Amino acid sequence: MTPDDLLAVQGVVAGYGPVPVLHSVDLTVPRGSIAAVVGANGAGKTTLLRAISGMIRPTSGRIVLDGEDLRGTPVEQLVRRGLAHVPEGRGVISELTVDENLRLGGLWRRDRAAADRALDDVYQLFEPLARRRRHPGHQLSGGERQMLALGRALVGRPRLLLLDEPSLGLAPRVVAQTMALLRRLRDDTGLTVLLVEQNVRSALSVADQGVVMALGRIVTTAPATALRDDADLRHAYLGF
Ligand code: ATP
Repeated sequence: MTPDDLLAVQGVVAGYGPVPVLHSVDLTVPRGSIAAVVGANGAGKTTLLRAISGMIRPTSGRIVLDGEDLRGTPVEQLVRRGLAHVPEGRGVISELTVDENLRLGGLWRRDRAAADRALDDVYQLFEPLARRRRHPGHQLSGGERQMLALGRALVGRPRLLLLDEPSLGLAPRVVAQTMALLRRLRDDTGLTVLLVEQNVRSALSVADQGVVMALGRIVTTAPATALRDDADLRHAYLGF
């Protein structure tokens, strides 16, 4: 790990029972960059995000955010330290309005004025959400729900955003918009993103670094452009 790395995952072993899913995973993500984790179904990509965000506890290894070991840190403290996780399926609360859902993302902040400013920024970023702020979550389209989940994470002004399958179920145009937005957030605000995607082409088009997982291990880490151009690797692990 270097001072340029915001996240370091070191020798992490984790799973859901006695049999581990992740077998000694090592990964670093430099600050202000986008890393895309790709690989077949069941490779352990979602499990890796869950281990980083404290949803499951590694049986060994370390997860270090900005030089601080996160072991034993309660999940709500992780949010305060700048970590936001948007899970697959997105977790929008259907009964709450857009505005209420977004405010949940900033509830932990003591500085209410700063939380309101962050909320305004999200409405500027996602104009459709601003128009529908009084609508309940269940009235939103798939793309709008994805925006809402992302917006809720951004209201907390995270330093590290963990995104699980943001393109799932979305039209290609909306996927392209989401990827463009991630790039903009990286460039304009220095946000660091760890992105898990089945949509390998989209993920590698936006990422700086590509991370290929298979059977709970990282098989290769390379600049995203190099991965895109490496036909052997693509055939072996990514199916195209
Ligand atoms: P996908 O794209 O299909 O979600 P993935 O790479 O994200 O794949 P994981 O969801 O991390 O893979 O799953 C890795 C392994 O862990 C799989 O064998 C899966 O069956 C198992 N697994 C996932 N979630 C659980 C759970 N809640 N309890 C037990 N085993 C699980």
